[in-house]
Amino acid sequence: MFLLCGCGTASQPAPTTATQLRPQDNNGGSGAAFTFLRGRPRWNRPDMRLTYAVSPMATVDHLPRDAVREAFRSAFARWAEVTPLRFAEAERYEEADIRVGFYLHASGAGGDGCGHIDDKSSRDGPLLAHSFPAKDGRIHMHAARRWTVDLDRDTAAAAVDLESVATHEIGHVLGLGHSSSKSSVMYRYVRYRERKVDLTEDDVHGVQELYGPNPHFSFNAHFNHIDQNKVEQEKGKVRKGKARGSSFWRRGLASISCLCPQ
Ligand SMILES: [Zn+2]
Ligand SMILES: [Zn+2]
Repeated sequence: MFLLCGCGTASQPAPTTATQLRPQDNNGGSGAAFTFLRGRPRWNRPDMRLTYAVSPMATVDHLPRDAVREAFRSAFARWAEVTPLRFAEAERYEEADIRVGFYLHASGAGGDGCGHIDDKSSRDGPLLAHSFPAKDGRIHMHAARRWTVDLDRDTAAAAVDLESVATHEIGHVLGLGHSSSKSSVMYRYVRYRERKVDLTEDDVHGVQELYGPNPHFSFNAHFNHIDQNKVEQEKGKVRKGKARGSSFWRRGLASISCLCPQ
């Protein structure tokens, strides 16, 4: 079962279908690559600062709002690491540039329904979320999904990793469309229990084309670093039989290695 990002199904600009070839990308040689949303929307802030907030009203019962805030904080940091953009949590939800909430079709969890997040709008699979680029900035998560922030503790077969989808939706808010590179965060589908939070080279090329690079970010060093962590993770699995650990990287990669059967 694949889960679907509903971006492009609502009134916001649909992802462009013009795939750009990026032969330098390490995406399996398929020629797949990032796209931009139609009209190439982007945030045009001289200081590169954007604020965000998680709705105090449009929530889901099974996740504390602080856990949602933490997942989004981490997801925003991934995009900030590779661009000059800086994200700060707004004190007042209404004043934030990027506003996150959980919604059901028509009658939302917070009494503010979303008319576009209906399952019927997708023939491919259950919708997870959709979002709106500049200068709208809304991110709507489907309130009926089993969102989780800890795949180790939440053993539900239909659990969906919140941070993975948050990272994807932030990419849309910044102006990226769907990538046809299956490994990329901006690929249209994720699986139940899949954790996919690391930006790939394709994701980074895309967002840097919109906003430029973070001067402190080294492309080669970053991706070599991730590869080295994967090597260490594999070593750890062999030693312990099962990858368990408290560090950020161990948690992330352990989850990636235990995808549910389809
Ligand atoms: Zn999407
Ligand atoms: Zn919506």
